[in-house]
Amino acid sequence: MKAHELSFWAATATPYTPNQPLVGEHRGDVVIIGAGFSGLSTAFHLKQADPGCEVIVLEAEYVGYGASGRNGGFAMTVFGVSLTVTHMLHGTERTREAYHYMVDAVTYLEQLVQEHRLNCDFRRSGFLRVATTPGYVRRIQEEIDLALRLGLDGIEWWDKRQVQDAVHSSRFLGGWWEPRCALVNPIKLVRELKRLAEAKGARVYERSPVIAVRRRHGGVTVETNQGRVLAEKVVFATNAWSHHFPWVRRLQVPAWTYMVATEPLTPEQWQTLGWEKGMGIEDARNLIHYFRPSPDGRLLMGGGPVRLSFGSRPAPDRDASALRHLEQFIHTLFPSLTPLRLTHHWGGPFSATLDLVPAIGYVQDRRGIYNVGCIGHGVSLMPSNGRILAALALEQETQHTALWFVRRRVWPWPPEPARWLVSHLVKGYLSLEDRWYERKGLGPRNA
Ligand SMILES: Cc1cc2nc3c(=O)[nH]c(=O)nc-3n(C[C@H](O)[C@H](O)[C@H](O)COP(=O)(O)OP(=O)(O)OC[C@H]3O[C@@H](n4cnc5c(N)ncnc54)[C@H](O)[C@@H]3O)c2cc1C
Repeated sequence: MKAHELSFWAATATPYTPNQPLVGEHRGDVVIIGAGFSGLSTAFHLKQADPGCEVIVLEAEYVGYGASGRNGGFAMTVFGVSLTVTHMLHGTERTREAYHYMVDAVTYLEQLVQEHRLNCDFRRSGFLRVATTPGYVRRIQEEIDLALRLGLDGIEWWDKRQVQDAVHSSRFLGGWWEPRCALVNPIKLVRELKRLAEAKGARVYERSPVIAVRRRHGGVTVETNQGRVLAEKVVFATNAWSHHFPWVRRLQVPAWTYMVATEPLTPEQWQTLGWEKGMGIEDARNLIHYFRPSPDGRLLMGGGPVRLSFGSRPAPDRDASALRHLEQFIHTLFPSLTPLRLTHHWGGPFSATLDLVPAIGYVQDRRGIYNVGCIGHGVSLMPSNGRILAALALEQETQHTALWFVRRRVWPWPPEPARWLVSHLVKGYLSLEDRWYERKGLGPRNA
């Protein structure tokens, strides 16, 4: 795929020239595979903590090729699928700790942006989770009650009038309003993280797909198609591609989500929507829809159908039925806007662990470090996780390495074909729960 076809963000970004590939033999202390938010943030934090550490980043394609260059740009506090699902599977204490970490992650991202003047259109425009059926009104209210019980502040219930005043859709029946959340331009953010990492002295090689990772006495050997690196540690910052590496094969599976961008709306069209705060919005499904304004005045809409893959064969990065679904969903929410031309359609994989929350840890001994399971929420999480990955690579104990999802026991996905079956069962359960909440309402039914 050509770089500008990757996403709306890539198509509208300034032209980008990737760094040279890795050629020949190199030595380093830590080699990082993957140049998305996680890999580049890890490189930056490693160099910040230990300027003498030789850090090499290897990226198969180019910076931001993965989910980091294709996402919706919502920097939010969701950890895993949702507060309710995390609470159901992991209990009160862990949910509370995770959400405090996420609140801090959004603040930390803002701190990075301000301190290093990252040009990424970061805006604290807030986050609104809207109910589109009476069932979802109940779901959001229950979730707000849970948040309050967990001691999470900064969230409020908006009734139908407040939500519809903020964004004019008759489908919106109430919502979760969280002003601390932000929006970014993800491709700008990931390129800025590259700038930061390189400014500290990390070496980033692009068009350098890693084809083998081996243990050797005192370290690891990481091979690309044209070169190799001898290092002490390897960090797998490969998120939804991690199953390609035998070391971490069964920790996660990839799942594909899709987005569209409309043509720029006219000022009159924006006026019919209200939306003056320009906040990011999601609906209350497990298999969410998410939508936001773009900096150049378009409506970006994502979510609905999620595709799974079999083995190492990927699902497509574009999906005609997802495109139709999203087009229809725009019409459902904002009938006054249609007909509206869609100018961009794209998609990409996020990473899912079996217990639906992120996991960070060592692979067997301390030579390998992984970071998987963003569950579609990594814009604030991954820049923050870079601090943890760097600490693990340097074998430092910090307040963050003591968090429960670091070095936790991860339930492995079974091998194929059972993986296919189990991943469809998990998705089926989440989708069934959504349908239950939609039964009395007007939510979309073809996802
Ligand atoms: C369409 C979409 C919308 C999303 N929207 C949001 C959102 O609004 N908010 C939010 O919080 N999260 C969102 N997410 C999730 C978020 O984008 C991810 O959690 C985050 O980008 C993960 O960052 P990462 O660096 O861990 O992984 P990635 O950005 O996926 O980076 C992994 C990198 O590893 C590289 N790689 C893979 N294999 C190899 C190899 N063999 N050798 C070398 N390199 C390799 C890949 O090329 C890739 O660049 C979305 C995801 C998608 C797909």
